Amino acid sequence: MIDGPVIVGAGPVGLATALLARARGLPAHVLERLPAAAPKPGSRATFLHRQTIQTLATACPVLADQLVREGLVWPGRGTYWAGRRVHHRCYEPVRPRLAPFISLPQPRTEELLHEAGVRAGVTFSWGAQADEVVLQDTSVLIRAVDGREWRSAFVVAADGAGSVMRRRLGIPMNGDTAGAPFVVVDIAEDPARPLPAERVFHYRHPLAGGRNVLFIPFAGGHRVDLQCRGRDDPARLAAEPRAWLRSLLPPGHACEVTWSSHYLFRQAVAETFTLGRVLLAGEAAHLYAPFGARGLNSGIADAAAAVDAIAEAGTDPGARHRVLAEYDQVRRAAAERNRAAAGKALAHLTAAGPHRQAAQRAAALAARVLPRAGTWLDSKPYGPRDAGIPGSLY
Ligand SMILES: Cc1cc2nc3c(=O)[nH]c(=O)nc-3n(C[C@H](O)[C@H](O)[C@H](O)COP(=O)(O)OP(=O)(O)OC[C@H]3O[C@@H](n4cnc5c(N)ncnc54)[C@H](O)[C@@H]3O)c2cc1C
Repeated sequence: MIDGPVIVGAGPVGLATALLARARGLPAHVLERLPAAAPKPGSRATFLHRQTIQTLATACPVLADQLVREGLVWPGRGTYWAGRRVHHRCYEPVRPRLAPFISLPQPRTEELLHEAGVRAGVTFSWGAQADEVVLQDTSVLIRAVDGREWRSAFVVAADGAGSVMRRRLGIPMNGDTAGAPFVVVDIAEDPARPLPAERVFHYRHPLAGGRNVLFIPFAGGHRVDLQCRGRDDPARLAAEPRAWLRSLLPPGHACEVTWSSHYLFRQAVAETFTLGRVLLAGEAAHLYAPFGARGLNSGIADAAAAVDAIAEAGTDPGARHRVLAEYDQVRRAAAERNRAAAGKALAHLTAAGPHRQAAQRAAALAARVLPRAGTWLDSKPYGPRDAGIPGSLY
C-alpha cells in the first residue's frame, strides 16, 4: 500500500500532480508506460500562462524561476489579413518574475517538472503500463500489463487522451471532432536569419495559397500551424512541410524542420472526473483544440485541485465524498467552459457559414480606419478566456 496518491502518467499533468502532492507532504508515486527519459516529440503546449507558473511556484519556486528564465516572452503580437497588417500590439517589458506567460517547448517543460519532482522526492516506476484498475472500499489497485501491482488510497489518472484508466472505469467522453485539419510544424531558429519573436496570425496568407497560418515563437524555434482547406491532403502537407514552408520564411532561411504532424482536433469532456477514489486530470479528462492554449494550462489547474481534494480527504476521511464531488463539479464545469471557448476559436478560424465570412471581411476592411476592428480580428482565433471560476482563467 502506497501512502500518498499513485499517479498514472508522467506527462506534464501527472508530473505537476506529483510535485504539488509532495509540497503538501504527501508521498507521490508515478507510473509511466514509457522508459525513463524516452524522447517526446513536438513543441505542443508552448504557452504557459502566469497562473500556471504561479501554481507551480507554490510547490517549487526554483522550477518557476527556471521556466521563466528559459521560456520566451513574446515582445508583441500581430495579425495580418491577406498580407496587410490589421493589428499590432507591443507588450510592456516585464521583470522576469512577473512574466505574463512564457513560451517553451513541452518536452523541456516536462524535463524541468521531472527534475523538480526527483528533487522533491517523487518516486517513479518507468515502463509501467497501467492496464487494470480495481476499485475497493478503502483503496484502489492498479495492475500493469506485466503483472506488477500498486495499491493506494487515491489514484490520479493523468494518462492522456487515450486514457486506459478512463476506459477501464467505463467513463465516456462527450464531444466530437470539429473544424478543419491543421498541419503543425516546428522549425529550429536560424541565427543568421531570425524570424520575428512575436506571435503572428495570418488570415488568408497570400504565400500559403490563401490559407490561415499562425506563427508561434518559442525558446529555440517557431511552431507554424497551417489550416488546411477542402481539397488539401494534410498527411502529404505534413510529410513534405518544406515544400510550402519555404515561401513563408525569409530567403535563405535554413528551414530545419524538427517536428511535423497533422490534426483534426477533438473537443470532448469526460462524463465524470471522479469514480470511487480515482480522479481524472488533464487530457484523460478533457480535450480541446489548442487555439487559446487551454490544454496544459487547465491540466495544471486540475492537478492543483486534485491534490487539494486528496489532501483534505486524507486528513478528514468523513469529507471524502464531498471533496471528490466538488472536484468533479468544479473541474468539469471549467472543462465545459474551456471546451466552449476553444470551440468558438475553432468556429472563427474555419469561418463556417456566410455570416462569419462576411463579418471577418468587413472587419478587415474596417481595420484600415477603426483599430477596434483589428483588435477583434486579433483576439478571435484564441477564443474567450474564462473558466467560470473566480480567480482562475482555466
Ligand atoms: C499541436 C498541439 C499544440 C498544443 N498547444 C498547447 C498550448 O500551447 N498550451 C496548452 O496548454 N496546451 C497545448 N496543447 C495540449 C497539451 O499538449 C496537452 O494538454 C498536454 O500534453 C496534456 O498533458 P497530459 O499530462 O494530460 O497528457 P500527456 O501529455 O498525453 O501525458 C500522458 C502520459 O501518460 C502516459 N501513459 C499513457 N497511458 C499510460 C498507461 N496506460 N500507463 C502509464 N502511463 C501511461 C503517456 O506515455 C504520457 O507520458 C497542445 C496540443 C497539441 C497536440
